[in-house]
Order: sequence, then C-alpha cells, then structure tokens
Amino acid sequence: MNIEISQIANLPSKFGKFKVKAFKEPCKDGCKEHLVIYKENLEAIPIVRVHSECLTGDALGSLKCDCRDQLEYALELADKTNGMVIYLRQEGRGIGLLNKINAYALQDAGCNTVEANHQLGFSADERTYEMVTYILHHFNIPKIKLLTNNPDKINSISDIEIVQRVPIIMKPNKYNTDYLKTKQAQMGHMLEE
Ligand SMILES: [Zn+2]
Repeated sequence: MNIEISQIANLPSKFGKFKVKAFKEPCKDGCKEHLVIYKENLEAIPIVRVHSECLTGDALGSLKCDCRDQLEYALELADKTNGMVIYLRQEGRGIGLLNKINAYALQDAGCNTVEANHQLGFSADERTYEMVTYILHHFNIPKIKLLTNNPDKINSISDIEIVQRVPIIMKPNKYNTDYLKTKQAQMGHMLEE
C-alpha cells in the first residue's frame, strides 16, 4: 500500500491532550485520510478503539445512532489509560456519505438499515480493517486491548494480537435511544412535509 503519513502534531481537546498523526490511503474514489489520536505515553498494550467515521453522529449529534457517544467515551478512556483511537474514514459502514443518506431515505420510507443497504446494492456492512493492521504495525504495537461491543471486529483485524476485549460502556441516556430514534424519525417526516 502506498500510504502517505503526516508528521506528529499536538491536539489539545476537551477530552485531554493528545498526539495526532494522519494516514492518507489511496482508494478507487481518490483517497481516504484517516486520523490516529493517541497519548504520548502509550501503554505497552494499549486500549485501542477503532471508530469508523459517522458525520451525522460524530459532528451533528444525530440520534439515529450512538456513534458520537461511543467516540466521546473512547477519547475519555484513551486519555485515562494512555490509549489510542483510530478514526477510519469509512463513512456509513463503508458505503460513503451519499449512499448513507440514500439509505436513511429508504429507512424513512420503512426499510430497516440492512434492507436499505441491500436495496442500494451493498452488504449490511462494507467496512474493512487492513488500515488498522497497517497503523498498529507503524506504531510498533503488536498487542492491543480492543474497545468494542462487536466481537466480529476481533476477527476482522489480522496480524495483531487482541489480548482482551474491553466493552464500551454507554452513558445512562442510552435508555432514551428508542424514544429519541422515534422522535428523530418524526422530525424527518416533518421535514418532508
Ligand atoms: Zn453513526
């Protein structure tokens, strides 16, 4: 892979003081630019979160998913435990922003998230994790504790020893999720009127 790698820069944030390094990966549509957010004194076997981009959740606070809560939790934990967050630019479970919005439109029309992906000609999850292996090798990290609720992700990351799965514990507002999802859907309908 012909990956371009940035210098290391400081990123003070509301979650703590981090180092950041960007990785530019060529792909069929041009390139994807990923970001690694990590503590200067990384643990020998760090807790690592692999977060896939979700513009609507991460930046806009969408209530259709819990991506932003998970990202914030991961950054807080990285700060506390000298860990790392690998932010992969594979929007919409790998189908891209435009297709994700089309999938949302199909969901507004009554499809569930899997049916919507299938109607658009995609599988339910198009994400890949080769970059995770590339990045961890670059940082000379052979072993990690993976912060995830998705056991399938463990099998998708190759050539890295995952010594432990750390659950990503959600905040109490998780109890509001169904209510909030319904509210969001109703807001969507209002926008269509
Ligand atoms: Zn999301």
